[in-house]
Amino acid sequence: MKTSRIMTDKRWIPETLFEKLGFRMTFEVERVLYETETEHQHLVLFQHKHFGKVLMLDGATQVTTRDEFIYHEMMTHVPILAHGKAKHVLIIGGGDCGIAEEVLKHKAIKRLTQVEIDASVVEFSKQHFPEFTKPVLADRRFDLIIDDGMAFVQQTRERFDVIIVDSTDPEGPGAVLFTYDFYAACKRCLTPGGVLVTQNGVPFFQAAELVRSVGYFRKLFKDAGCYVASIPTYVGGHLAMGWATDDKKLREVPVKTIADRYRKAGRFPTKYWTPQVHQAAFALPRFIAEHVASAKSRVKTA
Ligand code: SAM
Repeated sequence: MKTSRIMTDKRWIPETLFEKLGFRMTFEVERVLYETETEHQHLVLFQHKHFGKVLMLDGATQVTTRDEFIYHEMMTHVPILAHGKAKHVLIIGGGDCGIAEEVLKHKAIKRLTQVEIDASVVEFSKQHFPEFTKPVLADRRFDLIIDDGMAFVQQTRERFDVIIVDSTDPEGPGAVLFTYDFYAACKRCLTPGGVLVTQNGVPFFQAAELVRSVGYFRKLFKDAGCYVASIPTYVGGHLAMGWATDDKKLREVPVKTIADRYRKAGRFPTKYWTPQVHQAAFALPRFIAEHVASAKSRVKTA
C-alpha cells in the first residue's frame, strides 16, 4: 500500500502541555517572529496561516490573534457584568494585555491594576500585539506592576471588586497561582461580594486542576464553581473559568439585567459574549458538573 508523505521544510511547533497524556497539537509555522528564553520562561511567537500570530510560553499556547476574543471576552465581561458595580479590577498575569483591553471597555471601571511577573512578555507584546497594548498603555486608568502575583496579593492594601487571574498553567512561575494560599490572599483583597475568576484549564485533560481549585474556593467562599467556553487553540474542548464569590446571586443575574448593564457599560462590540451566552456559560456539561460537585472543601493538597 503506497503511503503519501507530506514533504515540507516548514517547521512544525508542537504544544507539549498534554504530552504526558500522549497527545500533541502541532502548528505548521509560516514564520517565527520572535523566540527567546526570558528570565522566567521560553517564549516563541510565530505566524500561522489560519490562527494568525500564535504566542506560546513553555510549550503552551497562550493567545492567537484568530481566537483570542473568546477567552478575553468571557474572562472579563462575565465577572464585571455579573457584579454590576465594579470600579476597581485586578489582573494577575495577563502579559499580552488582551484581558486589560477588554476590561477598559467598561466605562464604569475607575482603576485597573495588572500584576505580571515577566516584564519581557509585556515589552514584546508592545511590538507584536499593539492591538491590545496600545489602547491599554494609553489609558490613565491602567497601572502595570511587574511582580509575582502571589507576593502582590499577600502585601497590597488595595481592595478590588473583581480579580481576574489570566495565568499560565500550574507549572513554573504559574504554579503558585493555583494554591490555597494564593486564593486566600485574593479573598483578602476583594471587596465584600467581590468576584474571583481564574483560567482553570481544560477539564477533559486537566480535571484534577479544576477539582483542586474548586475545593480551595469552597473552603474560602460561599459560592464556588466554574463557567465554560470553548477556545479552538486551548485544545480539548471546554475551558473552565474558575468562579468564586460570597455573593451567590451573581451567577443567577437575569439575562435582562445583564443586557441592561451591558447597554449602560457602553454596548461595546463583542464577537463571542452576549447576555444569553453569559448565562448559558454556567450551565455545565454533566461530566464537568460532576467534577465540580466532587470537589471537597479543602485547605491543602491531601
Ligand atoms: N490566556 C493564557 C492562558 O490561558 O494560558 C495566559 C495568557 S498570559 C500571557 C499569562 C501570563 O501569566 C504570562 O505573561 C506569565 O508571565 C504570567 N504569569 C505566570 N506566573 C505568574 C505569577 N506568578 N505572577 C504574575 N504573572 C504570572
